[in-house]
This record gives sequence, C-alpha cells and structure tokens, in this order.
Amino acid sequence: MLPVVVVHGGAGHIPKERSEKSTEGVCSAVRAGYVVLKRGGSSMDAVVEAVTHLENNPAFNAGCGSVLNVKGEVEMDAIVMEGKTLGSGAVSAVRNIANPIQLTRLVMDKTSHACLTAEGASQFARSMGVPEVPMESLITEYARMRWRKNLVPDANPVECQMGKMGTVGAVAVDSEGNVACATSTGGMLNKMEGRVGDTPCIGSGGYADNQSGAVSTTGHGEAIMKVTLARLILFHMEQGQSAEAASDLGLAYMKSRVSALGGVVTVDPQGQWAARFSSHQMSWAAAQKDTLHYGLYVGEHFTQGIDEPLLQGI
Ligand code: ASP
Repeated sequence: MLPVVVVHGGAGHIPKERSEKSTEGVCSAVRAGYVVLKRGGSSMDAVVEAVTHLENNPAFNAGCGSVLNVKGEVEMDAIVMEGKTLGSGAVSAVRNIANPIQLTRLVMDKTSHACLTAEGASQFARSMGVPEVPMESLITEYARMRWRKNLVPDANPVECQMGKMGTVGAVAVDSEGNVACATSTGGMLNKMEGRVGDTPCIGSGGYADNQSGAVSTTGHGEAIMKVTLARLILFHMEQGQSAEAASDLGLAYMKSRVSALGGVVTVDPQGQWAARFSSHQMSWAAAQKDTLHYGLYVGEHFTQGIDEPLLQGI
C-alpha cells in the first residue's frame, strides 16, 4: 500500500462560498506531499511540504489566514513528529513566522527540546536564519472580519465558530514504512492572549510511532487535550483496530466524554489510511498509487487520477 500522504484542512462548519477554496487547497497540498514521496523523500519531508502549502494558502487557519486572538493578533501553534525515532518538535504562540511548521522541524533537528514558545521560539528562529514577517502579512480581511464580529458581547457561540477556517495537518508513510505527522494552526477564534491549544502538545495535536501509525487532529483544542486524541487513536490501533475504526472510536469517546466534535487523518505503517470526523465538515485529501481521494461532507469520497483537474465536489 505504500507510500501515502493524507491531509486535512480543519474540522468545523465551512460556509458554502468557502468550500471550493478549501477542497482545492487540500488537493493541491496533498499533491505537493505526494511528489516528495514519489521522488524518494521521507514521510517527514512530505508532511512538512504539504503543511507548508496549507499555511501559505489564506483559505486555512494556519500561517497566512490564521484566526486572531482577542487582541486582534496572530499567535500560531504547530508540531511535527517522526515515527522511527519518536523525535518531535513544536512551537507555540509564535507571531511573526510565515511557516511555523518549518520552525518545528528545526526545533526537532537542531535542539534537544520538544517545544519552544513565544519570544524564545522567535529568538531561535532568528538564530536559524528564519526570516521574520510583519504580522499584518499573515492577517486576511476575512480573519479581521470574523474577529470584529466575535467581539460583540452577545455574539452567538454557534455562529462564532461558523466560518471558522480550519487548522491544517498531514500524515504520511514513505516507501521505507516510516510514518510522520505535522499539524499547524492559528488556534481558536478570539482566544485569550497566550492561550496554547492542543496542536503543539505531543499526543494531542499529533503523534507518530512506526509501531502503530500516525495521526493529525483538529477540533476544539481544550477537548482534544482532555482525551489526548492522537495517542488515544494509536492506542486503539495497538489493540488491533484499523486506522478507520480506531479514528472513529477516538472521536466517539471525545464526543461522549467531553461533548466535543473534531476530525483526524490517520495512517498505519502499512499505508492503510483514514480521514474521519464527527463535525459537520472536514476538508481532506489523500494520495496513494497515483490516485487522488478527497471529500468535505460526511460520507463523501471522490476518487480520480492524481494529475487530473478536480472533477467533482467543487
Ligand atoms: N485544535 C485547534 C486549536 O484548538 C483548532 C482547530 O483544530 O480548529 O487550537
């Protein structure tokens, strides 16, 4: 079944006028990750490439397009993990970095730490020659509009999260059977300054272990942390469940135990994969054996040749 890459563009409620951009975005990101695998790149190379594409796409809540905190500022969280060594790197509350996912890889490769935060992460980025970008360059009109709407004291909590653009993530297996995950986000709309979500927390926003598989998660961060969703799903896989069944079990537990919805992309080391969600929608795409798979609503699964223009669902 090897190799494979699977990406998500966030669980939630995507307004109709934004669904096309979201579907196109995940499909183009998965193609970019797949090219890396086809050229013999590692699963880590592939997930970082795919997530970099999604961070650069303003349709998603990561990198450019991130949602804003209560002060109207961008604070982003991200993580990478590789299944061969259990090596991981994360950053939290970073502000002036175009691609936090690339910084997480530097944390993994160049430090003895698992996570750097805020100003310390910025200093590390500078020392590695990662360029700083003005915060304004990461803020879209849409993100600013959502922020303003949600400042209203009687804002409807359901409406607030509608149109919430998604956190992004990817999982992959390379031709050597190594698994990896990457997740990147602007977090929750109008969050408190300094709030750190699930994304950079190992076992919550993502986890990768060659002995079971890899998972990248999306949804309400505080709930995901309560159930350590990524690790929970891999636990079920260790008990013999398939990627799909384990993903559903993890999401069902989060729903029943803490009343929260979310979504995940999951692979096992043999290249079996799943894109599952309990939310209304999650844009996702997978590439394997030169075939592109994608969908947005529950039960939707379009399939076509990897290089064909998108035919359905947009
Ligand atoms: N999990 C992210 C967070 O809470 C948000 C999301 O996935 O949409 O920061």
